[in-house]
Amino acid sequence: MDETLVGEIDFDPAALQEKYAYERDRRVRPEGKSQYVGTSGKFARFSADPWAGKIARDPIEDHSQVIIAGGGFGGLLMGARLREAGLTDIRIIEVASDFGGTWYWNRYPGAMCDVEAHIYLPLLEELNYAPKHRYSYAPEMLEHSQRIGKAYDLYDKACFQTSITDATWAEDSQRWTITTDRGDTMTADFFIAACGRQSLPKLPQIPGIDDFRGHTFHTSRWDYQYTGGDHTGGMSKIEGKTIGFIGTGATALQAVPELAKDVAELFVFQRTPSTVGQRDQFETGPDWVDMTVPGWQRERRDNFQKHVRGPRPDTDPVDDGWTAIFHQLGAETPTQIAERLGRTPTAKELAYVSEVNDFKVMNALRERVETEVEDPETAEALKPWYRWWCKRPGFHDDYLRAFNRPNVTLVDTDGQGVERFTESEVVVAGKEYAVDCLIFGTGFEASVPYTHLTGFDIIGRHGPISTHWQNGVRTLHGLTTDGFPNLFFIGGNIQTANAVNAVHLLDEQARYVAFVVAELGRRGVTTIEPRGADVDAYVNEVRVHPNNLANLEFYKGCTPGYYNNEGKATKNDDLFNGGRYGDGPMAYYELLRRQQDHNSLDGYNLASRGAK
Ligand code: NDP
Repeated sequence: MDETLVGEIDFDPAALQEKYAYERDRRVRPEGKSQYVGTSGKFARFSADPWAGKIARDPIEDHSQVIIAGGGFGGLLMGARLREAGLTDIRIIEVASDFGGTWYWNRYPGAMCDVEAHIYLPLLEELNYAPKHRYSYAPEMLEHSQRIGKAYDLYDKACFQTSITDATWAEDSQRWTITTDRGDTMTADFFIAACGRQSLPKLPQIPGIDDFRGHTFHTSRWDYQYTGGDHTGGMSKIEGKTIGFIGTGATALQAVPELAKDVAELFVFQRTPSTVGQRDQFETGPDWVDMTVPGWQRERRDNFQKHVRGPRPDTDPVDDGWTAIFHQLGAETPTQIAERLGRTPTAKELAYVSEVNDFKVMNALRERVETEVEDPETAEALKPWYRWWCKRPGFHDDYLRAFNRPNVTLVDTDGQGVERFTESEVVVAGKEYAVDCLIFGTGFEASVPYTHLTGFDIIGRHGPISTHWQNGVRTLHGLTTDGFPNLFFIGGNIQTANAVNAVHLLDEQARYVAFVVAELGRRGVTTIEPRGADVDAYVNEVRVHPNNLANLEFYKGCTPGYYNNEGKATKNDDLFNGGRYGDGPMAYYELLRRQQDHNSLDGYNLASRGAK
């Protein structure tokens, strides 16, 4: 490439390209994502609810205006926005014993949100709640979920510890019938699936996993009975124990530093290091953000999203590791590059500029490891060799320093993962590490069929959604599908925007769906269903959008992980469920907002009960 394209640089891009390819290739496994198993069957204890006893109740047979599957931030936002739109009869069905979703389950020590609290926590403006820290800790987010549930009367009809077994559209009554594992048969005019996207813990199929006799648990069901203490630490029961922690993803970044403080000896088993940017956590008082300005939270979220993808606004109120790195990656716009070069750069040249910017970001992150970690060999092993967006970027102030403690050892598996377990040991490259307890920070099932994620099928006018989507997800804007009247999807990564701040996406979708339901009421319409032709057009738009095709190429070159179907992505469908809205989150939100501004239900067939 022409050197004038990127100016003077003090590294060799070709050497880095080669190193990244080498590190990637040796990590790709022939079995792809089937290297993992879920926690059903013999591993059920890894996903049991440690936080509550069984709630006794009788089966329910009744009707609601709306039934929402899922009581995490998506379901709560949906319930809240529906209430604001005037609906009163709403039931949330949730597997857990309370609201909270991710933040109900994940209570591991140090658990926190990795996006700024003022843009992440839902409904801060409406509830006039100011988060305590720049990045909220898990207990605050669980409490906030309960705050939303109470403020919007969502507890009244909520059914916890309840798994839906089937959702079936009844043509004669024009209603959904929902059955559950509690023997319930409930009906609803509208059914909304807000089932999350990474809620099912997964385990690597490491040989000997059944033979290990020590204690074991997954980070999303932290066993405080075993460790003692709580989210803030004080895990006195492990003072004399040796613990093996498997995984070095975003969860490990938060849990390892806390574990390191209390355990006698900690081995962290690493396959691929995460990027670890500076976090800069601090307490935020009630006046840290001016919460009196109407619309402040949406404005702040929009501003953040524009810094992520551009065009970059003049102000940067969030001003954190995310926005700093996105600024470095997009240091110059294509127009600025053209002005500098005095000609229009080709797409290949633009891609090269962006790759070189990425090398600069990653070089700085690798230098950060050297600054933070005292032992040079450990520091070398903790350096990530891939493009920044290949894995969910991590940020933490104490993770790297934890490896300076005498009781913490990084066991780098040279990209191969743990070899096997014996009754009491973890084996890596033939070397045995005796441990009392194994903690799996190995993440959650991803890119699985939608009905695997939900745990139930949805039967529409012409049959089940598992069949309807067997050749690929089909939606209109990731929100509805043809043949399934009065059904909406919230979040779940299905053909929606790819947002760093997932709650921004959930809220924009919830506002839109609440608008649709209220608008149907205003028009006296009882059913809504997207037109097949509009669904076809949208699916095609997602499949062939140039940004999505470019994304696919990008991810093919990435180190394996759930972002690229464990290195096996061959089509956009493999990048999460069904690909993404090609023009990015802000354009997606603006599309939904325009329809609300114009009271538009374009793309849908509408009908009234009784009408044929
Ligand atoms: P991840 O899937 O990100 O990480 C799993 C880890 O397990 C990886 O380091 C993986 O290595 C490792 N692993 C898998 N198999 C093996 C093996 N056989 N031997 C050794 N290591 C193995 O899970 P997390 O729980 O860390 O994160 C899950 C999701 O939750 C992510 O999207 C994350 O961003 C999100 N999260 C969000 C937070 C927030 O604040 N919003 C906080 C914490 C998590 P490899 O990389 O090689 O596959």
